[in-house]
Amino acid sequence: MPLRLKLILSFITISLMVVSIFSVVAYISAREYTQHIEQVRLHKSNEHLFEMLDTSLPLLDQLQDIVPHHENRDNVFSIIDISQKKILPGGGFNLGTHLLADLLIQSSNKIQQGNFTIGEQEYLWSADPVPDSQYIIANTYLRDSSDISTFFSYVGTPLSTTLFISIWISVWAALLLARLFRQISEKNTLLEYQASHDLLTRLPNRGAIGRSVQQEMETARARNEELVFCLVDIDALKEVNDSLGHKSGDILLDQVTQRLKRTLQDSGHIGRFGGNKFSVMIKRSETDNAESICRKLLESFEPIYEINGHSLYVHATLGIAIFPEHANSAQELIQKTETALHTAKKLVIDSSVYDVSQDNNSAERLRLTHDLRNAIHNEELQLYYQPQFDVRRNEIGSVEALARWIHPQQGFIPPDTFIEIAEHTGLIQSLTDWVLRTAIKQCAEWRDMGKYLTVSVNLSARNLHDETLSSQISNLLHYWDVSPGKLCLEITETAMMTNPAHAKKLLKELDDLGVRLSIDDFGTGYSSLGYLKQLPVDELKIDKSFVLNMAKDESDASIVRATVSLAHDLGLEVVAEGVEDQVSQDELSRLGCEYIQGYHIARPMPHDELTAMLISTKVKNNTQADEILVGVQANHL
Ligand code: C2E
Ligand code: CA
Ligand code: CA
Repeated sequence: MPLRLKLILSFITISLMVVSIFSVVAYISAREYTQHIEQVRLHKSNEHLFEMLDTSLPLLDQLQDIVPHHENRDNVFSIIDISQKKILPGGGFNLGTHLLADLLIQSSNKIQQGNFTIGEQEYLWSADPVPDSQYIIANTYLRDSSDISTFFSYVGTPLSTTLFISIWISVWAALLLARLFRQISEKNTLLEYQASHDLLTRLPNRGAIGRSVQQEMETARARNEELVFCLVDIDALKEVNDSLGHKSGDILLDQVTQRLKRTLQDSGHIGRFGGNKFSVMIKRSETDNAESICRKLLESFEPIYEINGHSLYVHATLGIAIFPEHANSAQELIQKTETALHTAKKLVIDSSVYDVSQDNNSAERLRLTHDLRNAIHNEELQLYYQPQFDVRRNEIGSVEALARWIHPQQGFIPPDTFIEIAEHTGLIQSLTDWVLRTAIKQCAEWRDMGKYLTVSVNLSARNLHDETLSSQISNLLHYWDVSPGKLCLEITETAMMTNPAHAKKLLKELDDLGVRLSIDDFGTGYSSLGYLKQLPVDELKIDKSFVLNMAKDESDASIVRATVSLAHDLGLEVVAEGVEDQVSQDELSRLGCEYIQGYHIARPMPHDELTAMLISTKVKNNTQADEILVGVQANHL
């Protein structure tokens, strides 16, 4: 039933009830009032009767004489003798007189009034003691039964007018109230919509997304389904806002919304997560898995956007997390998706599915950090050494020290994973301390065995901020009596560029010590030649990503060629890492690359295996690199 009708009916009911109550009250009051009037009249008739009495004559005789003459329809008398407690002849009222007598006997010397019913008839009475006697005169009146109709004949018209007016007011008030309610409810609906939607794109906002993720998760849990939650970051929004104005930015957001809707049709939920981020939630199925959803979404962004006469290419970055694989609550799922998006942006890739190893805040990572701290403290890490073949001297002239961690429960943890954790938690300092101590000590042991190897140690960007690093290295070299030139420090191109001024200062200090310096992973960063020229580095390591496929990929080969030539022009020696085949090795030798490192020479191995290998391959003679491989074991990590 519509609210308006409901209100009208309730208001009419209320006014009917009020008018009815009013009528009943009015009727009762009117009856009581008429009763009072009648009783006063009855009392007056009694008094009138008493006035006719002559006190010098016998009273009873007089009463019995006068009473019958004064009786009529409205006054019927009873003569009562109190001392005898009986009704005396002379009065005309016979019915139920004993009741009346009982009443009178209780209090005989004052006026009493009341009413009683016999059958359906109601009687009013007034009983008055005859002055100076034992007699009472009770005057009785049979009340008119047509009282109600009389009452209504009097009040009928004003009552129906009142009823009409009150119903009219009710309907009017009901309509007014209904309009007010409608306006309030419309306002509430609007407020609710505004609180849960983004007004520009009309998509659910962040709060509503959270609630809908929670709901969908519960449904998915009950049905044993999987959900893919994705955050889409529109990279170009800021540029569009800054260069073409916010109106153009709004148009871009609207177009992105339309494309997302077209791409997903009815298969998923789209939301505006805030700023330049949209969210997409979709059920995972055979056809709609994380990869296919990513592909579909990225493809939808490919066509050029036309905004206010400008043709724009808009790039999007996606972060993805999956329920229940990655999270159990909406908040966790959204948080993990944000982590995945952050990773994608950091690695400058189109999309990234949540990976616990990238998550700085995951419980697993916290556990791993704790275990790594213990492992470093208890010296449970191992240092492996990977040989570097000196092409000119035709021998293994150096080794790169590489840290290994065999976790008691999880087994082998890749260095890229634990080094990254160490770098982000400050553990890298103590890890590097340990590597330097172990590597320099090992270098001294090999020297004592007559094997004059250079040991390369990797430094992280954070180590470059350690003011004590050069003095610590100097002390170690001094302690083990190792010549500074036998220690090489590898610093990645990116680490050198994070704080060039700092790096330059530290490299200068290290160079002053006489330590060898190497630019690691060259080709993956963005260092400028001008800057590199100012650094006191001795060698450049071409990143393995170019070397691995140089035998098959001509563009990789040309990068390697250019890098070798560039390094030589700058007066640097070149190390090629990631050499996995003879063809690459031959080509690198031909190009004049000074050192070759890779699985083709040997994998990283523990110090005792390397010692055994060095002994069996006679480091100092002119053995070919192929022969050096003799004795290298296959099971190295
Ligand atoms: P990196 O400094 O570039 O080390 C060379 C990596 O290339 C090593 O990986 C090595 O095992 C691998 N490699 C060598 N030859 C070949 C080859 O022919 N083919 C292929 N596919 N790979 C080859 P690893 O040992 O897994 O170390 C990974 C990274 O972890 C290192 O890259 C380095 O950045 C870091 N790392 C390892 N140990 C330490 C350390 O003690 N301190 C610091 N700061 N970083 C370390
Ligand atoms: Ca290295
Ligand atoms: Ca490297």
